[in-house]
Amino acid sequence: PGSLGGAADPGRVRVSVRLRPRNAEELVADADFADCVELQPELKRLKLRKNNWDSDTYEFDEVLTEFASQKRVYEVVAKPVVESVLDGYNGTVMAYGQTGTGKTYTLGRLGDEDTSARGIMVRSMEDILANISPETDSISVSYLQLYMETIQDLLNPANDNISIVEDQKTGDVSLPGATVLEIRDQQSFVELLRLGEAHRFAANTKLNTESSRSHALLMVHVKKSVLGRDDFSLETQDCSSLVGNLRPPMLRKGKLIVVDLAGSERIHKSGSEGHTLEEAKSINLSLSALGKCINALAENSSHVPVRDSKLTRLLKDSFGGTSRTSLVVTIGPSPRHRAETASTILFGQRAM
Ligand code: ADP
Ligand code: MG
Repeated sequence: PGSLGGAADPGRVRVSVRLRPRNAEELVADADFADCVELQPELKRLKLRKNNWDSDTYEFDEVLTEFASQKRVYEVVAKPVVESVLDGYNGTVMAYGQTGTGKTYTLGRLGDEDTSARGIMVRSMEDILANISPETDSISVSYLQLYMETIQDLLNPANDNISIVEDQKTGDVSLPGATVLEIRDQQSFVELLRLGEAHRFAANTKLNTESSRSHALLMVHVKKSVLGRDDFSLETQDCSSLVGNLRPPMLRKGKLIVVDLAGSERIHKSGSEGHTLEEAKSINLSLSALGKCINALAENSSHVPVRDSKLTRLLKDSFGGTSRTSLVVTIGPSPRHRAETASTILFGQRAM
């Protein structure tokens, strides 16, 4: 599959890889060992070590090292999608990887203490707010958790079984019953994220599970009014026709979905039973359904099998077609997690 076009190319998934720096424990425990990967960002390549003398090389749309700033990650991974949402298209940004590799760091950091630490959700909203006019345009947000094929409202935890409705004609996906809050400024958005996080933690404590076992989805609806039509250019019209043809404002509607996926690690069947095994099956179901859909997009297949899971049904109108999709796969450096890292890299490669 072609690698030209990149983010500007709708229908194709843009795939980046981001390496987390070694944490304190890895710095000590793995001090005598090399990282399991070696990054060549200028070549957009990643080498996965097989042993001391041999490695496999993979290419990505973007290779983000442990030194990549949050700002750069936003610009590479999310900004093109946000821009197309402002133009009235739908788009998805998702993070896939083993628990502890930086999915939430990449997407969800609020950066209260340090604005340079802010993640993709906060930066996306900042960009959207800067590009709309409050008098005529609107932004509204829902925040959901998908756990064991059940959708829960993170803005109203009592609402714990939301159904997905698809418009028969347009194919648009909607979630009647999900809380939708109007956003007017950055501060109220950050408060909303904080509230959602607190509800997520409480819900998971009640269910005796961890947030790494569920998907979190932020949905941002942008309605922007634009005067005239896209093909209406002042240069090509004289003033008399401009007056005569003055068109009513058009509404551009775009939807951005940011998905913090459940941890991709295999939960080995031998070590888990009951609840955990059911969880593992459910995570494997939704992640493999997602994998099949993005493979279908990569292969330009006319059939994208979105029906197989709630996750893919939720994303149905936000990938493929005119939508833009960006996937960031997150990996850790530890040689002990080489097998998981390899499986994450393969998931990303199959999306390209
Ligand atoms: P995940 O959501 O994939 O389980 P987290 O985002 O919670 O992983 O990250 C795990 C830990 O690693 C956190 O303590 C986080 O602050 C840290 N971390 C992740 N990515 C980075 C990074 N790029 N730079 C510094 N610390 C990071
Ligand atoms: Mg996380």
